[in-house]
Order: sequence, then structure tokens, then C-alpha cells
Amino acid sequence: MTLENLEKRVLTGGAVTPEEAEWLATHPDKPALYEAAHRITVALASQEFDMCSIINAKSGRCPENCKWCAQSSHYHTKADVYELVDKEECLTHAEANQAQGVARFSLVTSGRKLSPRNMDKVCESVRYMRQHSSIHLCASLGLLGQEELRNLHEAGVTRYHCNLETAPSYFPTLCSTHTQEEKVATLRAARAVGMEVCSGGIIGMGESLKQRIEFAFTLRELEILSIPINLLQPIAGTPLEHQTPLTEEEILTTIALFRFINPTAYLRFAGGRAQLSEEAVKKALHIGVNSAIVGDMLTTLGSQVSKDKQLITEAGYHFSDSQFDREHLWHPYTSTTNPLPVYQVERGDGATITLKDGRTLIEGMSSWWCMIHGYNHPVLNRALTEQIAKMSHVMFGGLTHQPAIELGKLLLSILPAPLQKIFYADSGSVSVEVAMKMAVQYQYAKSKATGNERLAAKSNFVTIRNGYHGDTWNAMSVCDPVTGMHSLFGSSLPVRYFVPRPTSRIDGEWHPSDADELEACIAAHHTELAALILEPIVQGTGGMWFYHPQYLIEAARICKKYDLLLIFDEIATGFGRTGKLFAWEHAGVVPDILCIGKALTGGYLTFSAVLATNEVADTISNNAPGTFMHGPTFMGNPLACAVAAASIKLLMSPEYDWQKRVARIEAQMRDELLPAKQLPQVADVRVLGAIGVIEMKEPVDMARMQQRFVDEGVWVRPFGRLVYVMPPYIIEPPQLTKLTGALINVVASCRS
Ligand code: PMP
Repeated sequence: MTLENLEKRVLTGGAVTPEEAEWLATHPDKPALYEAAHRITVALASQEFDMCSIINAKSGRCPENCKWCAQSSHYHTKADVYELVDKEECLTHAEANQAQGVARFSLVTSGRKLSPRNMDKVCESVRYMRQHSSIHLCASLGLLGQEELRNLHEAGVTRYHCNLETAPSYFPTLCSTHTQEEKVATLRAARAVGMEVCSGGIIGMGESLKQRIEFAFTLRELEILSIPINLLQPIAGTPLEHQTPLTEEEILTTIALFRFINPTAYLRFAGGRAQLSEEAVKKALHIGVNSAIVGDMLTTLGSQVSKDKQLITEAGYHFSDSQFDREHLWHPYTSTTNPLPVYQVERGDGATITLKDGRTLIEGMSSWWCMIHGYNHPVLNRALTEQIAKMSHVMFGGLTHQPAIELGKLLLSILPAPLQKIFYADSGSVSVEVAMKMAVQYQYAKSKATGNERLAAKSNFVTIRNGYHGDTWNAMSVCDPVTGMHSLFGSSLPVRYFVPRPTSRIDGEWHPSDADELEACIAAHHTELAALILEPIVQGTGGMWFYHPQYLIEAARICKKYDLLLIFDEIATGFGRTGKLFAWEHAGVVPDILCIGKALTGGYLTFSAVLATNEVADTISNNAPGTFMHGPTFMGNPLACAVAAASIKLLMSPEYDWQKRVARIEAQMRDELLPAKQLPQVADVRVLGAIGVIEMKEPVDMARMQQRFVDEGVWVRPFGRLVYVMPPYIIEPPQLTKLTGALINVVASCRS
């Protein structure tokens, strides 16, 4: 028998015998034993460090007489004594742990088992947590029967924990009020109802080395894959209060043996590891500890990268992707210390996205309006790969290329004739910046051209409330002052003029007074106003409001009267979304400057364009400084141009027939969503083109609602009081029915 042979046997799927384990335990070369266990850990056990967390949901007054336990009523200790905590407290703890990226949360209660009343209460708490949080739930409630475990499982507990504590031959010395067989029966019953199980124990309670080996083999026979290992913390008042602690070598040898005997299990550091030196913790991790109960192992969480986590990483483990994401990646409008849950996507196909856990969701958002043709479209894929083979990028200063020219020709063919000049930009927000700079530079150039110096003062903007134009500086300044970030950025943000949004609905009467405030504002301030900027017909992120086309006609009239340019932000509305190819067509009003983005590339790449009339471009170009002052690095990126050209050609091809697709989506959404108007929670339902909106009476809980949608198999991201969808145009009718059905179900289940 050699160490190498035994290691090899385990590595090739074989097992050691108890006698061989004893031989290993007395092996004189401990470092060699530890290294052998380490190699087994690396080869066979998870290298993704697993963290779970617990709440002591009921403490003290336990009738059992386990000699190690502070909560036993047989002994006088200083342990906390309290009754079952309520569901809110459970949820608060669960959420705090989930926010730190801990994937599991366990409810642990003292006592032999819970009373029927308390069992019901726990099931209620579990259901409540399942509704409000996506953390996986475990429970450790003592010796339960199959019926109780089934109820628990049905409520939402997926893993049951019951420690065997020690070797079968030693257990009766430590506890006489119940047997280890009863624990095994509980674990078997938990398995029988479909739960995973978790079981380990405490070392250093006076058991012999041989008994520790016996214990590891008992766990192996029961095929336990999650094994908490506690180091006895002798507690004053218990019979084990004077127990001599194990030496570090004994502890490390035990871990190595557990790894030899249970090569694929999670060996989980639980209580008592504080008694180990940092050096010993490092060795334990190296040898085979690949999981921990947070709180003891991981003392500090959050953005302070704890010493423990550093040790874990140094030992070669990694944390789950979701843990990394929570700790290092900033998501849109999200806190880093208390981020909303995110779902990891593996791939997208057509109108669906598939999450890493295998669930496939119908995509209701087109990834914020842009993936109009769905995911993984062969035509767009091909356009990109063909272009990649030629050139992914080249500067646009002094150079040009076929994709930019081809895209330009396509854009001119689908946009109103007066818009003749195209400026390519990087994103929607940047195109808004560009459009606003153009307007200011136009007025400046005009002052030079006419010699009317006063025109140079026309450098401010007017817009309508509830608008959204992006997150960069100037774009932000024309977003709604309340839902935008105006108060936060205060005096550093340029101050714009805001008038109320039109109240006339697209499908209702035109109220002539709707344009009064706009006219009054422009009349009063036109000498300082360069342009009016707005989203035509559909206000997107600022309120999903669909307004009357007459407003655009009035706006164009007023701008002309007072020499303001008219800027349309069609970043969200462009490319068919509202039932017209561009929203300006609802009113027949052509702006001086038009921004497009989002669906321009079929959602494949960030890209945008600003189109301007010859009048705007010529005025800027024919007067000092004679050039338009903007020119970013990635301007006219060939990949983006190529995929945009492919997307537009696809959209405009007769076989694709986007009008028919969008009209079908609109008709189906009217049929399926408008009945939601009757729900008591709902304030309004509106549908236009491929946009469906349910406006709630009260703001929704985004995280919770998002989870409900995922449970329903759809991807929808509500905000404020708005629950809305804008599916890809390639969505099939049954998929859309599933999407609208989920919308109604989730909305109907909100508190009214
Ligand atoms: N304008 C409108 C109307 C938008 O909807 C958006 C994006 N939601 C933007 C501008 C900003 O675009 P981006 O996020 O690409 O910068």
C-alpha cells in the first residue's frame, strides 16, 4: 500500500477502505498526504466555492440533551432564547445574503422538531420568501417525517439539512434523547420527497481518529454531497466545556481523510474555524474545503474584499459567476452594494433568450427596443462575419469604406427627402449630443452668415416633460426634470425649458390647448432657443405615452415661426416600432435634425446616426469655423455599418413584410391586453404598433415582478408604474400569447 496508489485509485473512480483510511491517517509524511488530497480535490470536487447562509430562526429551550449544544435546556448556557421569528425577518436576512451573492439560505430551528403550528408558520415563511426572493432555500428543523418534509418541499425548500454529528459508534455517548437512526430516517425521507440533503457534524468531541473515519464512511454510504464540518467550540455550561481542542494537524488530517473518502462532496467549513490560524485555514482550503457557511467563514462581505475571500481565491477556487457579477459589474441604474438580482443569459435565438440555468424565456423587451429581428439571425450574423474578415474597424477621418456608403444610401432611401446629410455616432445618447451641438452650431453659423450677432445667443433648448433622450450630459439635461437626474446633478447641468407633455392621446380627440404652453414658452424665450427636441408620437422611457400627431404639426409651425430647429429623437420609435417606418410619418412632419439608433443595427451593435437637412449642414459648413465640431474614434465603424445595412435590407425586403408583422402584433396585443383595463390594479392599457403598455395605479416592485415574469417563462422589465412589452417582429403568435398571458397573470397578482 502506498499513498500514490491510494490517490491513483480514488482519482480513477475507486474507493479506499476504512483500513486504508486508517493507514493514511497515520502516514508520517503529512505534507504528502495533504498534497494527495489536494490533487483529488482539484480533479474531482467543485472548484467553484459554494457559499450558503443560515438564520437561527428559533433559539434555545431544546428538550434534547446533545452534550455539545448551547441550546439544550439540560444545560445552563448563555445561548439566546427566542420563539420562531416571523416571515419578514426571514426575508430580510435572505435578501441581505442574496444581495451579497450567496446562493442558499437555510432556516434553522432549535428543538427535536417543530410543533404543527410552527411547521405551518415555517411553510408560510418559505412561500413568502419564494415570492419575494430567488435565493435557494434550505431548512434544518429537526427530525421530520415524510409528510412534513413534503409540505416543506412543496412550499419551496429544495434542500434539507440534518447533521449526523459524529460516528454511529460514538453518537450514543453524546446524546440519549434521540438516535442517529432517527436522523438517517429524516434524511432518507427528505430524499424520498425529492429534496437534496446536507449532513455533516462536529469534530473534536472526544471521538477517536478511527471514529472520525467511521463518520466519513457513514456519510459516504448515505451519498451525502454537502458535508458541513464544525470544529467543536467548547461552550461553558455544556458537558463538553473542557474538551481539549484538536490540534491543527488532527484537523487537517481529518479534512484530507474526508476528501479521500468523499472525493466529490462539498466539504463545508461551518462553526468554529476561528480557532484555526490563518496558515491552517489556507492549508484546509488547499487540502479540500471547497464551501462554507457565510458568517463564520466569510466574516466580511460586500464591497470590502474580505481576507477570507482573498484566502479562498489564493487557494485556487473561484466564486460563482453571479457572485463576481454582483461584486464587480455595475448594471444600469444599479447600486453596487445592494444590487437588484440579475439573470445570466447563455444565448438568444429568435424571440427567446436562454438563461444559464437552462430556462428559456420569450423576449418581451427586444433588449430595450433594439433586437427587432430577434437573436442570432443568420442574415445579420453573416453580414458581421463577412465584414470581420475584411476589416472590423478603420478610422473615418480621411478614410471611407463601402459599408458606410451602402448604409448611407439605404438610410436616404427610407428617410424623408429633405434629410440629406448623415453623421454616424456611437450610441443613442451620443447622437442626441451630436444633434444638440449641431443645433447650437447652426445658430452660431447663422449669426455669422447674417451678421446678426444676436442669433449666437440661440443656444438653449426647449422640450416636453416626460421625455427621455439618454444619459450623457446634454441628453440628460433634456430628460424629464423629475424622473431624470436634474436635482442630483444640480447646477452642473445646463438648465432647459420644459413644457407639459401633450395630453391628447394618439387615438383620441385633439385638444387645441395642448400646444399653448409650448407656443407661450417659445414666444417668450425664442431669442435664446436653438431648437425644440422631442420624441415624436411615443414618449418611451419617460412614461410610454402615445400622443396626438397634431402636436407635431403645431410644434413644427411654432418652431418655424420663431426660428428654432426641430429635432426628432426617433431612437426608440424608428424602424417600424410604432406601425410606421418612422414616427414622423404619423404627422407627416419632417424635422431639421433626426436621431436614430437602437434598432438601426438590428440590435447587434451600439451605433446611431444623426440626419440633417442640407440647410442645417450647409449653414454649419459655410461659416466659421467651417467644420462640424465632432468626430469620435469609432465613427462609422465598418462592422456596425455592415450589420445596419443588412438589418435595413432585411426589414425592407418584401418577404419580410414588416408592416404585416407589426400590424399582426398590434392586433393580437389589442385583443389580448386591452381586457386588462378591467383589472382593479390597472390605470390604463394602450397599444401602438409593436408596443403594448399596461399602466398600473401604483409603482411596481421591479425585482419581484421580474422574478415573477421569469417564473412565467418571459422576459419583461417593468419600471415605475409601467409594465410594457415591445417584442421582436419575428415573434410567433403563440409566443406572443404566452407573453401577454404572463403580463396579465403577473399584473393581476399584484396587490390592488
Ligand atoms: N433617446 C431615446 C428616445 C431613447 O429611448 C434612448 C434609450 N432608451 C436614448 C435616447 C439613449 O440611447 P442609448 O441608450 O443608446 O444611449
